[in-house]
Amino acid sequence: MNAVKPRPLKEILDAMASKDAKDIELVSKAYGFSEEAHKVQKRYSGDPYFVHPAEVAYLLAEAGMGPRSIAAGLIHDTIEDAGVTPKDIEDTFGKEVLSLVEGVTKLGTLRYRGLERHTESLRKLFAATAKDIRVLIIKLMDRLHNARTLEHVPRVEKRMRIALETLEIYAPIADRLGMSVAKQELEDAAFPHAYPKEYEKTRELLKERSIENERRLEKVEKTLKRELAEAGLREFRTETRVKGIYSLFRKLERKGWDMTKIYDIRALRVIFPTIADCYSALGLIHSHWRPVPGKIKDYIAFPKPNGYQSIHTTIYTGDGGALEMQLRTEAQHKEALYGIASHLTYKEIQAGAKEGRRGSLEWVRQFFPRLGWSAVEKIPVVEDKGEGVPGWVKELAHADPASKESKEYLDTLKSDFFSHRVFVFTPKGDVIDLPIAATPIDFAYAVHSDLGNTMSGARVNGKLVSLDTPLRNGEMVEIITKPAGHPTRKWHDIAKTNMAKKHIRAALAQQREAKR
Ligand code: MN
Repeated sequence: MNAVKPRPLKEILDAMASKDAKDIELVSKAYGFSEEAHKVQKRYSGDPYFVHPAEVAYLLAEAGMGPRSIAAGLIHDTIEDAGVTPKDIEDTFGKEVLSLVEGVTKLGTLRYRGLERHTESLRKLFAATAKDIRVLIIKLMDRLHNARTLEHVPRVEKRMRIALETLEIYAPIADRLGMSVAKQELEDAAFPHAYPKEYEKTRELLKERSIENERRLEKVEKTLKRELAEAGLREFRTETRVKGIYSLFRKLERKGWDMTKIYDIRALRVIFPTIADCYSALGLIHSHWRPVPGKIKDYIAFPKPNGYQSIHTTIYTGDGGALEMQLRTEAQHKEALYGIASHLTYKEIQAGAKEGRRGSLEWVRQFFPRLGWSAVEKIPVVEDKGEGVPGWVKELAHADPASKESKEYLDTLKSDFFSHRVFVFTPKGDVIDLPIAATPIDFAYAVHSDLGNTMSGARVNGKLVSLDTPLRNGEMVEIITKPAGHPTRKWHDIAKTNMAKKHIRAALAQQREAKR
C-alpha cells in the first residue's frame, strides 16, 4: 500500500482566508519547521508523522482560523513528540504561537476515565482551562484527524477509549462552540469504533431509506424553486443537509428504531441574502405544503444558546412522507457551520497579539453570546499562575448582570458551568473532581479507598503539605503511602466529602475490632 502524502503547503495556504505576505510566510515557515522536526517519525498507519499536523493545519484553515492558529496547528506536536524546546518555538514563531502550542500540549496531558463520573467534569475543565479559545479549537481539529485515522490504532481498548472520549467530550464541546461541521465529523469518525454493532444497524436502515429520501427532496426542491421565483424571490441557493449517522442513531434510539418517525435524514437548506427573505419564504412554503404541527422552530428570532440561527419547518410532502427545511442567511449559514471559529479570523488578522482587555476576553463573550460586555468587563484580570480554572470563572458566577436577559443566562451558567467544584490532577494527569475546600484526604479516597487507608502524607505540586490543606484548581496531588499507614479520628473531622468520611469510619471501626 502506498503511504499517504502530507497535505501540500499550497492547499493549506489556499484554504487560509488571509492572503497577506507576512501570514503566508509564517504558515510556510511552520510547515517546513514541522516537516523537519517530525522527519523520522511515523504514524500507526506507517505514514510519515507529518501527515497529521499538516492535516490539522488544513482543517483549521478550512474552519476559517487565522495564520497563527494554523501555524500552531502545524507545530502542535513538536514539543511533546519531537523534542523541540519551547524556546525554539518562541525564537522562531514568537510568544503567541508558543502559548497556543503549550496550551494544546497541556490539554493533551488530561486523561479520561470511564463514562460516568468524569465526563462532565472534564468537559468543564476543558472549557475552563483553555484561556484562549483557539487552543480548544486546535485541539478539536487534532482530535478530528486522530479520530479519522482510528482504524490504525492497534489496541482495541485504546481505540475504544479514544472513540468514546471523542463522542462524550470533544463533540459536545464543538457543539457548544457552534461548530456543527466539526461536531458531526467528530461523531461520525468515532461512532463505528465506539459502538460497532449499532453503527452497522444504523447504516443498514439508512441504506434502505436513502433513495426514497433523495427523490422526495429533489421533487420538493424543484417545486420550491419555482414557487419562490414566481413570488419574486430570485436570489437564493439551496443545499442538501445530510444528517450525521451518529446523530441519526441517537434519534433512532429515542424513537424506538422507527425510521418512519424521522423526517430530517435529509433536510433542504435554502440560503437567502436577508432575514426578511427567510420569513417571506416561510409564508410561501406553508401556503404550498401543510406544515407538521409542532415542528416550526424560529431560531432566527430565538437563537440557540450556541448562537445558531435558522428557521426550521417540516412539511408533509403529499406522498406519505415529510421533509425538513432550514431557512437562513449567508452569514447565519457560515456561523452555523463553523461557529466561533468563523469569528476568530477577522479578529486575529486585525489585532494580532496586541489586543486590549476587551480583545483578550472577546472569546468569553462569544462563548456566552447573551452575556453582554457589562458582565464580561467585570471579570477581573487574573494572571495565569497555572491555577487551572481561571479566577474569572468564579467571578463571573457572581457578576452583577446588566439586564434581565443576561441574568437568566448567568443563572444557567452558574448551575451548568461553574458549580462549586475544584478540579485537581493525579500525577498521571487524571482529573479528580471535588467539592470546594476538599483536602488531600478527600482526594485520596476519591481515587481509591486503599489509597486513603494507607496514606501517610501528601504532596501538592511537588511540595509536602499538611493533610488539612484545601486543594485548589489545577493542582497536582500526589499521595504518599506506607503499609502501616491508617486513618485517624482527626481525618474524619478534616474530610469534606461523605465518601471519605464513610471509608474512614469503616476503617476506624475495623481498627477497634482488631484491638479487641
Ligand atoms: Mn496531534
